[in-house]
Amino acid sequence: MADLRERIKDKKRIVIKIGSSSLQHAETGDLDYTKLDVLVRELCDLRNQGKDVVLVTSGAIAVGKKAVHLKGIEKDNPIAVKQACAAVGQARLMMTYQKIFAEYNQVAAQILMTKNTIVDNLNRYNAQNTFAELFKLGVIPIVNENDTVATYEIEIGDNDTLSAIVASLVGADLLLLLSDIDGLYTDDPHKNPDAKFIEVVEALTDELMDMGKGSTGSNVGTGGMNTKLQAAKIANSTGVDMVIANSKDIKVIHRILDGRNIGTLFMAHKDEAFDLPLYVQQMHK
Ligand code: GLU
Repeated sequence: MADLRERIKDKKRIVIKIGSSSLQHAETGDLDYTKLDVLVRELCDLRNQGKDVVLVTSGAIAVGKKAVHLKGIEKDNPIAVKQACAAVGQARLMMTYQKIFAEYNQVAAQILMTKNTIVDNLNRYNAQNTFAELFKLGVIPIVNENDTVATYEIEIGDNDTLSAIVASLVGADLLLLLSDIDGLYTDDPHKNPDAKFIEVVEALTDELMDMGKGSTGSNVGTGGMNTKLQAAKIANSTGVDMVIANSKDIKVIHRILDGRNIGTLFMAHKDEAFDLPLYVQQMHK
């Protein structure tokens, strides 16, 4: 295990995903600026070490709802309301990120994607070129789904999957999913006290993939364990190691990058037959 974690130290291109529930105060739903600040500082420090960094962030819809004083975090709002909230919230979220990144002398960029960005050859090629250019310029891309236009036909649907797609698209060597859980357990630890923590997953067996089914996660983001295992499938099949860790202390980012044994490590096992655009096209069908 120690050796497996040692190799994390050498990672050069890292995609970090943070969910809405990790960015908000649970009691009010408002942004947790302390956490945002630590997150940005951690990312800037990775950049200062010469690593390429991408942030995949949720929060557009949640922040937008707050801004226009809509109550509740339920998921059954009419689509247009959600999209309007996303339009307001994405801009606010970026404004906040831009401000904090600037405090640490880093430049951040926004990339909004849908399924079409991957499935359409020209769009995918353009997105890849944009990422490549941003890395050359030393800019930190901040990615979200383009929730304002993405209805069900073209939506990826959750940022766990989106972050794995991005990791694969940019040829990252590590995907770090920060969530409200410590990692993968043999069963739901809230319901089963005998559930055991899994430190490393060497192969994504069918049995393992089935374990995530039915898990819903928190009621803020869209991701439960199922979407995290789907993300692992995309990341690992395209040669990207993935770690799931708890975001309650955002400083886990540098601890993990220092090779410490935190969270669950899903080891890459590149499958040459895995076709990302085809896989994305067939998702949710
Ligand atoms: N894209 C959505 C948002 O920014 C969140 C999706 C997710 O939480 O997985 O509000």
